[in-house]
Amino acid sequence: MSKETGSSRKEIGGAMGEMFRIAMERPITKQYPFGPPEFAERFRGKLDVDPVKCTGCGVCEVVCPATVIRMVSTGKRKVGTREIETKRPIFDLYTCISCGQCVDDCRFGALELTHEFELATVDKNSLIMDKALKSVR
Ligand code: SF4
Ligand code: SF4
Repeated sequence: MSKETGSSRKEIGGAMGEMFRIAMERPITKQYPFGPPEFAERFRGKLDVDPVKCTGCGVCEVVCPATVIRMVSTGKRKVGTREIETKRPIFDLYTCISCGQCVDDCRFGALELTHEFELATVDKNSLIMDKALKSVR
C-alpha cells in the first residue's frame, strides 16, 4: 500500500467519524414554522402602542433615530380657560429598526416591543400603525 493511499484512507475514516458524531447530536435547527418559534429573552419585534396609556406627550417622536414617529393633531380640548391642541403618534413601522429608544423614554409605559416578527409585506402602508389616534382623551 502506497503512503498516499494510506493517508487518504485515514482522511476518509476521519470524515466518516465526524459524520457519525454529527448524526448522533441533537439537531440545532428549530421546528419553526411547524412548531412555535423560540425567542431570546430580550428579543425585539414589532413595536406596539397602548392608546389608553398614551398621553400624546411627543417624546417618542423626538427620540426616535429613524423618524418613524409623527405626531398628528387630533383636535382641541379645554384646560381651564385655555384650549390646547391634542396630538397622538402615528408610527411608520416599515422604517422602525426596533432600537427600543422610544420604549425606554415613554414615561407613561405606552410602548412595548412585542415578539411579533413576521412583518414581510408587499404593501408597506400596512405597517403604518395609527391606533393611538382612536383613543383621544
Ligand atoms: S407613546 Fe409615550 S412618548 Fe409617545 S406620545 Fe404617547 S405617551 Fe408620549
Ligand atoms: S423602536 Fe427605535 S426606530 Fe422603532 S419607533 Fe422606537 S425609537 Fe423609532
